[in-house]
Amino acid sequence: MLLVSEPALGAEEKEALAAVIDSGWITMGDRVREFEQTFARMHDADDSIAVGSCTAALHLILHALGIGPGDEVLVPSLTFVATANAALYVGARPVFVDVESTAVPLMSLADAHAKCTSRTKAVILMHFAGYLADREAWQAFARRKNLLLIEDAAHAPGVEGVGTFGDAAAFSFYGNKNMTTAEGGAIITRNRALNETIRRARSHGMTSNTRQRLISRSPEYDVTLLGFNYRMDELRAAVGLVQLRKLPAWNDIRRQLSLHYRQRLAELCPSVLVPFDASWVSAHHLLPAVLPAATARQPLIEQLSKHGIQTTIHYPPVHRLTFYNDLYPGTSLPTTEDFSRRELTLPLHPAMTAADVDHVASRLAVGLRAGCPAEVVQA
Ligand SMILES: *Cc1c(COP(=O)(O)O)cnc(C)c1O
Repeated sequence: MLLVSEPALGAEEKEALAAVIDSGWITMGDRVREFEQTFARMHDADDSIAVGSCTAALHLILHALGIGPGDEVLVPSLTFVATANAALYVGARPVFVDVESTAVPLMSLADAHAKCTSRTKAVILMHFAGYLADREAWQAFARRKNLLLIEDAAHAPGVEGVGTFGDAAAFSFYGNKNMTTAEGGAIITRNRALNETIRRARSHGMTSNTRQRLISRSPEYDVTLLGFNYRMDELRAAVGLVQLRKLPAWNDIRRQLSLHYRQRLAELCPSVLVPFDASWVSAHHLLPAVLPAATARQPLIEQLSKHGIQTTIHYPPVHRLTFYNDLYPGTSLPTTEDFSRRELTLPLHPAMTAADVDHVASRLAVGLRAGCPAEVVQA
């Protein structure tokens, strides 16, 4: 089965894990620190904070920025549910913003303007499928409205410019992301004080960790703020260090495969839209395809699956999920809803070849001809 995404793990990761076990120190040690510094350097930052997940990263950022009850946070609905959940974790209200268009399914500036109130404190941008949002435009918006600017960069590790938009950025190393530690995440902030607060809040607000107390031979610590256990362990950091070395080459393969998809789909399935310009700055996390409006998507998914091709949907709109629909009934985001109804995510990962892309594109063309009356008329 050709999967939508697949973790690339092998002998080096195994060796790295064995070395941690042999070392006898399994959490929050030298490898976590080295991972943080290496991840920071890759993004032209002085420092980063490794955490247990991107969800934890988003929670820590909003918590450290002092966002709370009575505040509103602008979020996309075309995202993973974690983006919106982070606002609820701190007692704030997530306010869903529509996407710009089917061709540019990133948060709409115009709709963000419209949804801004005197209670709006922050905006969380999500670099959908790895394609970066417009940095200057959002910075100008945040300045004018006096908003904190946060990136959900789960789809975009290793891209130039990511993590430089605003106050902080959250990354994910979950198993289906561009690089993985099985579960894991990181935070980049260029604000020193914020970095210190988040680092402390990651581990119960404690002034020192177990390793530091061992080295300094002082058992004393204090707790200066409300914190959590959102730590990363040495095993994950060791895997992450191997993965980080490979990330730039993997992102490049993703870029080439995406370009190949664009060419093949244009030839074989001209009615299918691939969002964004081919030259858009991206980590190419996903290959989203937008099907013609009349296409019956479910039979097509089953057809592709029969031929060994997995496809998924990014995303069911968050505002339409039962929990959020019950919480904020009547929310309407027409462009997000239209995009989500027509979107199909095709396989894209660095173990794929150009021949795999050809196979997917031709199977998709066959499926579209068979299943879509509009397509038959066009042909
Ligand atoms: C995967 C993902 C997350 C959550 O990441 P975890 O590391 O699993 O917590 C958040 N936002 C987006 C956009 C994601 O794709």
